[in-house]
Amino acid sequence: MSVQLDIADLQTWLPHQSPLVIAGPCSAETEEQLLETCLKLKETGVHALRAGIWKPRTRPGSFEGHGAKALPWVQAVKQTTGLPFCIEVASPQHIELALKHEVDVLWIGARTTVNPFNVQDIADALRGVDVPVMIKNPVNPDLKLWLGAIERLHQAGIRKMAVIHRGFSTYEESKYRNPPMWQIPIELKRLLPNMPLICDPSHIAGRRDLLLRIVQKALDLNYEGIMIEVHRNPQEAWSDAAQQITPEALGEMLQRLELRHPNIEDPLDANILDTLRQKIDNIDHEIVELLAKRMNIVEQIGEYKKEKGITIFQLERWNQVFRTRSEWAQQHALNAELIAEIYKLIHVESIRIQTEVMQNQAQPKDQTQG
Ligand code: PEP
Ligand code: MN
Repeated sequence: MSVQLDIADLQTWLPHQSPLVIAGPCSAETEEQLLETCLKLKETGVHALRAGIWKPRTRPGSFEGHGAKALPWVQAVKQTTGLPFCIEVASPQHIELALKHEVDVLWIGARTTVNPFNVQDIADALRGVDVPVMIKNPVNPDLKLWLGAIERLHQAGIRKMAVIHRGFSTYEESKYRNPPMWQIPIELKRLLPNMPLICDPSHIAGRRDLLLRIVQKALDLNYEGIMIEVHRNPQEAWSDAAQQITPEALGEMLQRLELRHPNIEDPLDANILDTLRQKIDNIDHEIVELLAKRMNIVEQIGEYKKEKGITIFQLERWNQVFRTRSEWAQQHALNAELIAEIYKLIHVESIRIQTEVMQNQAQPKDQTQG
């Protein structure tokens, strides 16, 4: 899949010293709550503010945001702090109201990105409008859906864009509210290297104590910045109380982050890294050679099974492979789950090879029947 998009530099529409920090309450609850929180955030040194005006709630009966009534509060906060303000929009009507009230940056929420009809309506409403748009990942782990939303906005002429990684919903038990599945945003960055990538640790975590580690990991993966939920009194928040932090806690978190750089500047460091990477290359080469040898034997076994009329899959043998490899992993202090996953893939490939052996050598039915 190839995607070629012309994307504006993040610094041209949200000037900042790396990493970019966008912060603010989950919801704009009252004019005072919004102003007090945002004034403290200005002191903390954040680069832009956020707040939910229209809140997409999973179940009815929860606070759904004040809507248009809260937009003059946003304007007032902008005036007082001088900081750019970002809000979520989910319809052409939201966009019209947001632009009328001088909102600087729009974002598309995870529940909107999933719906191409919705995204197209938004893109059509934005045609000819020069406003930056950030696109959250869809709630389900579907990279194509995320890319599709980006392409629709790009086709409508939006160039000031960023994506926000807020994790993916899952039915399985997890310590995260929305497990991050880091491989998905990493793949997006591979396909769209110029697309600014912003982490929303609040909706990934769902709880305060996980935030720091998620943010640190995002920065170590070269994300351009974060969008984090901050409230003057998180315990009392009308939405997402468990994941919001105070402006002071944000200040402390920013202090604790380790900022690393993606480039190797010192030639000595470059040399050490080169040597270690050379070792990795050699080992990987050996691993690939060994896998080729293994698959060769798999093929021989396939031929033998075919000759003797034995089925490809034997549950007992598979259980034994699966168990022993995990045990070997543990003996070498390797992550047993990783080895289990690798062997599941190897096993699928072995079955594929043996199926080919069985079927290629089989006489086509119409020739054997008289
Ligand atoms: C939000 O940022 O407040 C929000 C509703 O997030 P998401 O769309 O990621 O659920
Ligand atoms: Mn929220």
